[in-house]
Amino acid sequence: MIDPGADWHTHSSTTDGQDPLIAMVIAGAAAGLHTLGLSDHVRASTTWLPDYVREVRTLAGRTPLTLRCGVEAKILDRAGRLDLPDDLPELDYVLVADHQFPGEDGPVHPDRVRALLEDGTWDAADCLDQLVTATALALAASPVPPVLAHLFSLLPKCGLDEEQLDDQHLDALADACLATGGWVEVNEKWRCPGARTLRHLHRRGVTLSAGSDAHRAADVGRWAYLPLVSAELT
Ligand SMILES: [Zn+2]
Ligand SMILES: [Zn+2]
Repeated sequence: MIDPGADWHTHSSTTDGQDPLIAMVIAGAAAGLHTLGLSDHVRASTTWLPDYVREVRTLAGRTPLTLRCGVEAKILDRAGRLDLPDDLPELDYVLVADHQFPGEDGPVHPDRVRALLEDGTWDAADCLDQLVTATALALAASPVPPVLAHLFSLLPKCGLDEEQLDDQHLDALADACLATGGWVEVNEKWRCPGARTLRHLHRRGVTLSAGSDAHRAADVGRWAYLPLVSAELT
């Protein structure tokens, strides 16, 4: 039900990965994938994206793998704005990432969120509501098909736990995914989201996909968490 033959989340030496795009493609074939998504990190200020897309399209003509060109962009604020360049070239998808907490006026570092929760300035339930709302809005804000990357990986960094989310939170995300055609990734690097979240989303008909979040060729299409959590979905 989650296709292990397609890895939608990888990073090359274009950003913070160790290996060039071509090495990631060769590794994807060696891992037995049929589809590989190349999805380096972007910000609004990124200027190399047109060259990146061109390189991925060129590589696609030289491999039996189906290559897809994405990017990973963080959710900036509670309105769900994404940290994407204005002038986007043609992309196949965007990984929507919770790298920082989407605050009222912009991203808030998880250490700061933890401190604000600990001293009682912020309330955990409000934080969870705001994160879920911002994530749902980000799906709707995405100009290309969105995939929620490492959903809820932010929570433990803030001293929060995925189990604190209630079914209404998960339903809100499911509604947003179904309305936008958004997928939810099972992330190998962060081993998230958890089985309860995935089961809930799967039952609601949300498409689940696999992402290694590989930052080196050796990790492309290699799964340990994916089969474990997949077994808990039925
Ligand atoms: Zn990420
Ligand atoms: Zn990533």
